[in-house]
Amino acid sequence: MRKLALTIILIWIRIAYPYGARPEHVAADSVWLKSLQEKYQTIDSVFANVSWEFYTTGIWPDIPRKYYQMNSDLVLSRYSLKKYGRIQGEFGSPELNRAARQMYIRLLMGRNTYLPDFSGLGPSLARILINYRPSFDGDLRSRNYLAGILRDEPARERREKAWYSLNEVGSIIAPGLRELIWERNKLARETDHRDYYDFQLPSMGMNVDDLFEMLAILDSVSLEPYTQILQKTKLDLEIETVEPWDISFAYDRVKADLCPRDSLMIILNRTMLGLGFEMNNLGITYDLEPRSGKYQHDICFPVSVPDDIRVLANIDDDWGSYKALFHEVGHALHFSHIDQPRYILRASPAGCFSEAMAEISEMITEQPAWLTDYAGVPESNVRAAIAGIKEARIISLRYALAQVHFERELYRTDAEKPAELYWDIMLKFTMSSPHYDSDAWAAVPHYTERPVYMQNYIIADLIAAQTLAYLKRTKGSIVDNKATADFLIDNYYRPGASKDWFELVEEATGEPLNIKYYIGYILGR
Ligand SMILES: [Zn+2]
Repeated sequence: MRKLALTIILIWIRIAYPYGARPEHVAADSVWLKSLQEKYQTIDSVFANVSWEFYTTGIWPDIPRKYYQMNSDLVLSRYSLKKYGRIQGEFGSPELNRAARQMYIRLLMGRNTYLPDFSGLGPSLARILINYRPSFDGDLRSRNYLAGILRDEPARERREKAWYSLNEVGSIIAPGLRELIWERNKLARETDHRDYYDFQLPSMGMNVDDLFEMLAILDSVSLEPYTQILQKTKLDLEIETVEPWDISFAYDRVKADLCPRDSLMIILNRTMLGLGFEMNNLGITYDLEPRSGKYQHDICFPVSVPDDIRVLANIDDDWGSYKALFHEVGHALHFSHIDQPRYILRASPAGCFSEAMAEISEMITEQPAWLTDYAGVPESNVRAAIAGIKEARIISLRYALAQVHFERELYRTDAEKPAELYWDIMLKFTMSSPHYDSDAWAAVPHYTERPVYMQNYIIADLIAAQTLAYLKRTKGSIVDNKATADFLIDNYYRPGASKDWFELVEEATGEPLNIKYYIGYILGR
């Protein structure tokens, strides 16, 4: 009888608390978790608005001192970090455990980026990146202007000059960025990590060895086709070496006629409607016109998820503007459909997943049906257009591989000779001859603004290609099929950060992340 009673009690405990007996601290900690989320929500809202203003005007607005204080109290609280590290998985419900884990990651990552920025170095470099306009042909010129020369100018010396001007900001950023890298490494070494790269990547849920193993596969499969592309370019342009200022001229020029800027928003909205998205019903606002003082790259700001999402871009009459806007709108669609009651879960589960949502949208513009029905490419030219798109993807993969390897070595070598390192790695992956006189490496904004982020774009392409392959296999078409939006909203957008990115991918496509789909996407016929 006694034994029976014991069994019943044990079963009752298991049902009530599937993770074992509920620790006493849980009720109090749940309240604490909630209040921490509320604080984050307040601060995020203030700083998201400030960032929007900063990136669209180039001026950091005045905000009350108390918000800076609130932010540093949160980010620098060793108590919170230790406590969250200790109470992982003890909340008794999967939702609360997930929220606590995301909060822990948020605190950890916030600390990793906040501390080196505390000196003001990071923000002052960001200000240069936003505001700097180089002089070219006797005037201060925008990125779009110089990119236009790289794309359209037949005179090679002028393209070379434009390329140097475009990267001139690198020489102004470089000394400060090296200092920032030392600060970041110092922080990592305080916690016994080899360097900041090895410190940051695992807190993003990635393993350094696994990542570079995957990159090695992409390197080996893309080398031969890339070499052939270079060979063809050399013959076409009658040149000995393909230089960085030849790439855009060889590959972007042909598509310019297809992409007038005045039609961009109309085509975008029509495309999205075909997929099942009513863009006007979503809280997405746009700032698309280039101007002085405005950031010259493209960026999506989830100011308040899911109701207030803002897209910053700098559109021009070119293919790149289409791709860039579709990319940013992919981010915006993701954020504007997240449906989670807890604040900390109203986010992307990881940077690579967020970029994957953007890449899925960008890859819509690479589908044959989109090219004919939306971009007006004649049926007879579609094969050639797709072949060109694949070549452009192989080229950008080689550059992305170089940039990821460079960033890893940048931290490993304490940025000792970054320009040399950059050009040696560029030579290996892109076969561009070295230009040691250019600090082009420091003109890449991610190294300043979003350290250890570059690899996310590559993983994102793998996720996107696998997802599109699944959609084609199971739903027929992607373009002009409302099932596309339903699938993305249900499987990828709505869950926010309530699950890990690899779980979302596996559940949605029926298999874990598989590199074969992207390889097929860029190399298949
Ligand atoms: Zn993006």
